[in-house]
Amino acid sequence: MKPMTDRNTIAAVSTPAGTGGIAVLRLSGPRALEIAQSVWRGRSLMDAPANTVRVGEIVTSGGDTLDQAVATVFRTPHSFTGEDTVEFSIHGSPWLQREVLARLLEAGAEAAGPGEFSRRAVMNGRMDLAQAEGVADMIAVSSRAAHRLAATQMKGGFSRRLDALRGRLVELASLLELELDFSEEDVEFADRRRLTDLCSSAGTEVKRLADSFRRGRVLKEGVAAVIAGVPNAGKSTLLNRLLDDDKAIVSDIPGTTRDVIEDTAEIDGILYRFIDTAGLRDSTDTIERIGIERANARIASADILLWIFDPTSPMPLQLSAYRETLSLLPPDTPVIRVLNKADLTSGGSVSQADIISGVSVTQADIISGVSVTQADISSGMSVTQADEAIIPISAETGEGVELLLKALRDAVTEGRDLSADLIVTNARHYDALRHTASALDRVGSALAASLAADLIAQDLREAIHHLGLITGAITTDTILHTIFERFCIGK
Ligand code: GDP
Repeated sequence: MKPMTDRNTIAAVSTPAGTGGIAVLRLSGPRALEIAQSVWRGRSLMDAPANTVRVGEIVTSGGDTLDQAVATVFRTPHSFTGEDTVEFSIHGSPWLQREVLARLLEAGAEAAGPGEFSRRAVMNGRMDLAQAEGVADMIAVSSRAAHRLAATQMKGGFSRRLDALRGRLVELASLLELELDFSEEDVEFADRRRLTDLCSSAGTEVKRLADSFRRGRVLKEGVAAVIAGVPNAGKSTLLNRLLDDDKAIVSDIPGTTRDVIEDTAEIDGILYRFIDTAGLRDSTDTIERIGIERANARIASADILLWIFDPTSPMPLQLSAYRETLSLLPPDTPVIRVLNKADLTSGGSVSQADIISGVSVTQADIISGVSVTQADISSGMSVTQADEAIIPISAETGEGVELLLKALRDAVTEGRDLSADLIVTNARHYDALRHTASALDRVGSALAASLAADLIAQDLREAIHHLGLITGAITTDTILHTIFERFCIGK
């Protein structure tokens, strides 16, 4: 993208709203130094070398001191935006922030729109679109895994891979275009075998990236892990253990968890949003009913279901609740099943091995007189099993919880090494990759059917177009607008 000329100079507070020790105001554009100088008292900013700081005062037009400040001077093209930039660090009172900003506007700057600094960085070639989105992700990271993904994207790792892929497609498209120029002469510049191979390898790569989005999204936003099971199964106890505090109310009166309780914890670098649902059972109590409805809504948008079986409660009831829950889950949601209260069952006549091997001697069986096998439990499956086994745990003593956490992690990462793969985390990129993949599929079919070069070229161009949308190799004002309007002012 070529740098834009005759731009205005923009200003905004770049630190969050509210009181802080310091606040930072950013000023960027061709007149940044001149405007900064006009509100400044101290050693001149105009002749400050690039990347240096000056200590001085910000003054009103009448010459009164507004605040002591530190000014950092960046010079084009070596700044975030690529333009001359001055960043003022001032004392963080909201009143001062407003006054200093007003002073900069009075001196000739214009108020920056949402994401305008980042947008200028992209327009001036300092970074591509995907990188700018990586910066936004970095600002929002809330776990080690999300941090790693944002860092890769910000540094351009993702963009380089896409650009290389796009480059290969462009090369082939140009050979096809050449054929079109010589269409009269019936020549084939582009070797069809090579085209077919390239198309299928590019298609595989694009699909692999698109497939990583589900993982990427949950790693970025946090994994919505719903904890469900019949009342008294030990959901609240488990949640408290996972969260290491006493947020949920634990009680042995069934149905006390009246609402949905949610909290977050970073475990082994991954952010989980654990959601404890109201004990699932039919109820005539209105408040409890509402709780159940809310719980169902959360189940319908779960990333993972953690189902708790209770060996001290009748199994048929638990199985029917379990099956009902499975039917509410989004397709392909991983399910982890645990058998709680292992402290009660492990030493006694009811052995965990019995339950898993399908021999089906559970305490519940003894109580209810009904025989339940592992096969029964599995037969309700319409969903991906994270692990066929039932993990024995004791929410009370913590026994087995390590295994459960490992099962959770494996389900989230799909057993993959997070540092080895490129992972898509952005819905816009996912969309573009899906369109690219389907265009490449059409190229593949056209090649297989030996269709004319112009038909193949058309789909190939479409694939190239969609890939280009991700990094901004292809862009329009509308695309830029929809991306940057979601950024904050000052970014
Ligand atoms: P919820 O209704 O599923 O949230 O169940 P709670 O967490 O409130 O637990 C119900 C009862 O079971 C409480 O009295 C807990 O102390 C008890 N409980 C929960 N987990 C265990 C466990 O692992 N072992 C034993 N022995 N009791 C447990």
